[in-house]
Amino acid sequence: MPDRAPQPVDRQLPTDEARDLISLVRDIAQREIAPKAAEEEDAGHFPREVLTLLSESGLLGLPYDSEYGGGDQPYEVYLQVLEELAAARLTVGLGVSVHTLACHALANYGTKEQQVEHLPDMLGGGLLGAYCLSEPSSGSDAASLRTKAVRDGDSWVITGTKAWITHGGVADFYTVLARTGGEGARGITAFLVPGDAEGLSAAVPEKKMGMKGSPTAQVHFDGVRIPDDRRIGDEGQGFAIALSALDSGRLGIAACAIGVAQAALDEAVAYATGRQQFGRPIADFQGLRFMLADMATQIEAGRALYLAAARLRDAGRPFAKQAAMAKLHCTDTAMKVTTDAVQVLGGYGYTADFPAERYMREAKVLQIVEGTNQIQRMVIARHLAGPESR
Ligand SMILES: Cc1cc2nc3c(=O)[nH]c(=O)nc-3n(C[C@H](O)[C@H](O)[C@H](O)COP(=O)(O)OP(=O)(O)OC[C@H]3O[C@@H](n4cnc5c(N)ncnc54)[C@H](O)[C@@H]3O)c2cc1C
Repeated sequence: MPDRAPQPVDRQLPTDEARDLISLVRDIAQREIAPKAAEEEDAGHFPREVLTLLSESGLLGLPYDSEYGGGDQPYEVYLQVLEELAAARLTVGLGVSVHTLACHALANYGTKEQQVEHLPDMLGGGLLGAYCLSEPSSGSDAASLRTKAVRDGDSWVITGTKAWITHGGVADFYTVLARTGGEGARGITAFLVPGDAEGLSAAVPEKKMGMKGSPTAQVHFDGVRIPDDRRIGDEGQGFAIALSALDSGRLGIAACAIGVAQAALDEAVAYATGRQQFGRPIADFQGLRFMLADMATQIEAGRALYLAAARLRDAGRPFAKQAAMAKLHCTDTAMKVTTDAVQVLGGYGYTADFPAERYMREAKVLQIVEGTNQIQRMVIARHLAGPESR
């Protein structure tokens, strides 16, 4: 049995334009992203040049309004683009997802004047965004954040430390959630802070298990002064804005997870059809055939789940429960499938000579970011059984 080259995923796409878009993305992924992924991840190189290329190709603002430089694409198309990018390199797929998350507040809650002034550069002008919710002492319990914004005339002065910020130190703009009022969710307001603001600095990036090319850093706000016209939405509306961004962002994480899982399955199939033991390709053995079949089935189920949630969103219907389910299922699938891919490759799977071990390290973070999978279960359970009694 010869090695089987991976076949491109046969996607259901709503328009010819969407089909052309996926072809363009596959071309960029194969030429510019995948060939350098292993080496650059190993070296911890952040592929800013790729993100700039994606911006120039109109791929950094896909689900937003074309009036402001976006791509007018439905979520079901945007997410499949993310999946293709993440299959080539998670640092890039997740980078696009985080950038999209960082644009959400202004694109959905900004004033017309703010959108005209800032969105074209954010969506297609080469700028890169970061989303600052987490802090050293507030992760899952995000509403307990402590970073403060204090009003001073026509400006706000922001002081505090954000933690785990993807693109921390390299972003051109930061969407920041800060406390402007009392304790709890109602005391939080959103701001758009330029990356070169005086008093903003980033720590040395975290040393991570995977996605080493994606900088994740603490960001310090030391009396950062910004004008009131960079406040997004009303005072006290910030936490609702942050959560609404996360509902959509979780779909991005789900799509990235399926991309990583698909890449791992393709690797496992190619290896299993080429590797011989006992005089036969190992893909002949039912023990492995069933494993590959289960991996493929979980991936298809995950893709169907995130697309179903995306289609609800595109139809303007509630989708928060389905987004949490998609994030939970797709990221757990990525962890299981990538672990199984390492198993299919045997000893070679445990070495850096093959990408399976990198996929497994990358999959892990997807169970943690944008609400851990325990938090997704809490969200789903609240939709089923109502809020907890205390
Ligand atoms: C690589 C990376 C990139 C990230 N990028 C960003 C970013 O760009 N912007 C940003 O704002 N944040 C970012 N984060 C932060 C991420 O969202 C948080 O790590 C995550 O929300 C969990 O918070 P925590 O790490 O403080 O864990 P904790 O909240 O301390 O949780 C620790 C453990 O306890 C569990 N737990 C907590 N509460 C409950 C509960 N009520 N019930 C059951 N279990 C619970 C959690 O599931 C977890 O297993 C990033 C994190 C990583 C690792």
